[in-house]
Amino acid sequence: MSPISPRIFFDVDGVLADFASYYLKLLKEHSGRDHTPEDITCWDFNKCVTNPAEDSAVWEMISKRGGIHELSEYPYMEVVTKLRNLGYKVRALTSPAWACHRWVPERTLWLNGKGFTTKEIVYCSDKAAIWGDVLVEDSWENLMSWCSAHQASTGFLVDRPWNRNSLPWNAVRVHTPDQLLESIQRVVGHE
Ligand SMILES: [Mg+2]
Repeated sequence: MSPISPRIFFDVDGVLADFASYYLKLLKEHSGRDHTPEDITCWDFNKCVTNPAEDSAVWEMISKRGGIHELSEYPYMEVVTKLRNLGYKVRALTSPAWACHRWVPERTLWLNGKGFTTKEIVYCSDKAAIWGDVLVEDSWENLMSWCSAHQASTGFLVDRPWNRNSLPWNAVRVHTPDQLLESIQRVVGHE
C-alpha cells in the first residue's frame, strides 16, 4: 500500500445503517400503513411512501425517542471491517440531520460501536465539498454531485430501490459486499 493512505468514505444511512426500516416502523405506528423498503422508490420519501405531515410526525417521534444508536446494520459493514483488516483507514461521511437533536450524538455512538473513532466521522450535508479517493453512497443525487466535483475519484452506488438511475462515468453500481470490496481494492490498488 502507498505510504499515503487513500481516503475512503462510506455514507451511513442506506449503506451501513438501515434507517429506512426504522423510519417505516415509525410510519406504521403513526399511520397504520405497512410499507417495505422496496416501496421506497425515490430518495424523497414524501414522493413514494408518505406525505409532509406524516413525515414531520415521524421525525418528531425520532426526536422524542431517538433510536438512531440502535439501527440494524447492512451487510456492507463487513466491507469496512475487511478494509480495516487490510490496513486501510475508513471514514464515515454522513449528513447530520441537525433538526433532530438526538441525531449526531446517537449516530456517533452507533459508529463508535462499529469501530469508527470520532476522528473518522465526518458530518457534512454537502458531501461534494469533501474530497476523497472513494465514496460509497446510496443516494444517487449525492453521488452525482460528488462524482462531478471529484472527477479523478470513484463513486460506488450501493444498489437500492430508491436509486435506480443511470450513473456518470466515474461511478459504479454495486450489488453485493464482495463486489464492493473487490472494486474498492481495484481502485485504491491494494497489493
Ligand atoms: Mg445514505
